[in-house]
Amino acid sequence: MRREDFPILNEKVHGRALVYLDNAATTQKPQVVIDAIAEAYGKWNANVHRGVHHLSQVATQKHEEARKKVAGLLHTQSEEEIIFTKGTTDSINMLARSFGDAMVKAGDEIIVSQLEHHSNIVPWQMLCERKGAVLKVIPLREDLSLDIEAFEGLLSEKTRLVSVAQVSNVLGIVNPVEEIIRLAHARGVAVCVDGAQSVPHLAVDVQEMDCDFLVMSAHKMYGPTGLGVLYGKKEWLDKLPPAEGGGEMIEHVSFEKTTYNVLPYKFEAGTPNYVGSYAFGKAIDYVQSVGLEAIAKYEHELAVYLEEQLALLPNVRIYAAGREKAGAVSFNVYREDGVLIHPFDVGVLLDRQGVAVRTGHHCAEPLIDHLQVPGTVRASVAMYNTKEDIDTFIAALRKAIMMLQ
Ligand code: PLP
Repeated sequence: MRREDFPILNEKVHGRALVYLDNAATTQKPQVVIDAIAEAYGKWNANVHRGVHHLSQVATQKHEEARKKVAGLLHTQSEEEIIFTKGTTDSINMLARSFGDAMVKAGDEIIVSQLEHHSNIVPWQMLCERKGAVLKVIPLREDLSLDIEAFEGLLSEKTRLVSVAQVSNVLGIVNPVEEIIRLAHARGVAVCVDGAQSVPHLAVDVQEMDCDFLVMSAHKMYGPTGLGVLYGKKEWLDKLPPAEGGGEMIEHVSFEKTTYNVLPYKFEAGTPNYVGSYAFGKAIDYVQSVGLEAIAKYEHELAVYLEEQLALLPNVRIYAAGREKAGAVSFNVYREDGVLIHPFDVGVLLDRQGVAVRTGHHCAEPLIDHLQVPGTVRASVAMYNTKEDIDTFIAALRKAIMMLQ
């Protein structure tokens, strides 16, 4: 699928053709995105929103068109609900600051799950420390799915917000966020969905899902680094205070009283990443020209093939084997005497053969602790990967396992 559009895939690593299976960490960029960045700086770079001159108006128009594209991608009610941030981590920190300041007091509770990325744990922990609130954790069942009955038990009149990943960055499994949202809303509790690993792989509709907030990163969806999105329902964003102060987010400033700008600018202090938003708009056009449904279907087939081929190898343990996955598969390799081969060793030997995978705790230490391993090896696919990539990866892994016996 359109492999030729991604120039980096022609690179050689250690003299071997690159097989890039680290897409959950970041995706490679198609030529249209690379060209967009050069075009922005080469043809119309100027600061947005404040300029009457031509270039500033062009830049503003392109930045705002990109916002519309993101709104279309996520199916929001309006583009005012799209706040540009630096990435998923920044979005969650902003939300924890803004929502936390306005809505959370001592004794209140925030719920996350055992399988969250650190960026969906630590900002909430920091909020709880600031406010004297309590962080509650949805436990995992034996099959590593979220324990929904336990979640229901955690919801109380003290719960202020639930924040969960739609797709686990370690296990690749899809969590039942719709059910979580329904149960939380029945108690009047708001829900934030970490869409970092889902928006690039699934067709996401925030209105259908009915989440209150959703966060994502452009770089995980063929877009540039340094750009992310915080989606919030308008009624929430109207009500919440800005998380950061500075230029752009104000209406009037005086030493006596400052008033804030309208949505979404109230949440966008300082010069925004308009080159990034423009390039991300191009990535969205690119993805939509292929079709998110077609991408999801293709990647699902690849992930199933990847897992099937892995399962044929001796002494490989796949986590959440057989569960519905979007993009990523995590595993560990054991020696014949049953001793775990450290994931780093596997990763290094794969790298020597041109295969890029990620090893370690994947910024999800509480989940890795739960699995009682030092880390995992994670292979994650994107639309440009092929069955041949997976065959090369499996052959390289077979060799690595032999060398590590
Ligand atoms: N949440 C999940 C599920 C992720 O996979 C990641 C990145 O791997 C993040 C949050 C953080 O994203 P970023 O580093 O782009 O802010």
